[in-house]
Amino acid sequence: MRVTTAEAVSLLANSSPVAIPTETVWGLAARADDEEGIERIFAIKNRPPSNPLIVHINSKSCLSAYVKELPDEAFPLIDAFWPGGLTLVLPVKENAFPDIARAGLPTAAFRMPDHETALELIERTGPLVAPSANKSGRPSATLPEHIEEDFGVDFPILHSTIPCRHGIESTILIWRAPKWCLGRFGAISPSAIEGVLGYAPPHFSDDRPLCPGQMFRHYAPQASLFLGTTWDPSAGHTFDGVIGFSDRSYAHAKSILHLGPSSEPETCMFRLYALLRELDQRGFQSVFVDIDLPSSTHWQALLDRLKRASNQSESFHVPQGNRLP
Ligand code: AMP
Ligand code: MG
Repeated sequence: MRVTTAEAVSLLANSSPVAIPTETVWGLAARADDEEGIERIFAIKNRPPSNPLIVHINSKSCLSAYVKELPDEAFPLIDAFWPGGLTLVLPVKENAFPDIARAGLPTAAFRMPDHETALELIERTGPLVAPSANKSGRPSATLPEHIEEDFGVDFPILHSTIPCRHGIESTILIWRAPKWCLGRFGAISPSAIEGVLGYAPPHFSDDRPLCPGQMFRHYAPQASLFLGTTWDPSAGHTFDGVIGFSDRSYAHAKSILHLGPSSEPETCMFRLYALLRELDQRGFQSVFVDIDLPSSTHWQALLDRLKRASNQSESFHVPQGNRLP
């Protein structure tokens, strides 16, 4: 069900979550100061309470109201990438947000979306927490139809004429003085971040992940995905379909789903989640994914999501197989 901004404001004031568009993926919003609304988000998504939410703000200046100490090193990133697909995790003042939004952590994640409809709403509601608008573990929603698939046609979806243009979640950087660490690949490429910081942020690693966004199985369709560069049908490997590139041919494929041209990482990323959902709609059980990709950092986010969706840490590889032509 599509709702106007005014209707969304009143639903949110009554702790009823609303799906909102952002330039990365669709979000499932509650007011960041509303414990009951946030609890409902966790319940609707079936999201583990240990997985914290991103706070969406509509101005750079409001950050100082929540953050304990804003490191100087945050400003070049904020200037370069906000509004946009970069989330910054920073230590926050006590009681800045309900504990449940932060999964009890002393930090919170912040982002200013580059989406007019979202910004207009936040202007009227104040900061919104908004995890991706999908059931936990499923591919994120990049179209309103995906939200209806997961939550039903009666679920309130904020009307917008502006699409989610990235189709992938934000990149997350975690502040660990004296450096930023990479918590998640996403819409902003590591090379763009390195260009601003002057160093490549090291991957955040700890004995245990800070939160499930860093855990493995995620964004997954029901079908088993086999990632690889080679595939030998004579070796008895059969797949219901192939996810590949529109400028390549896949002679042995029963069915081909094109991400886009292999020269266009953004196009391919934008289509990924819709394709993963299509696999389920078509009842595919087993799918080969061509990951013969250029080594440029622009492909890292796509590869990261595919690995999580396939639950495969190593690529499927048939040594004597044909390289996919
Ligand atoms: P989602 O909105 O579903 O894409 O998930 C939000 C993600 O943001 C989480 O899964 C974490 O990876 C990350 N995140 C949110 N808050 C924090 C935090 N305080 N510390 C580290 N990561 C966070
Ligand atoms: Mg998500």
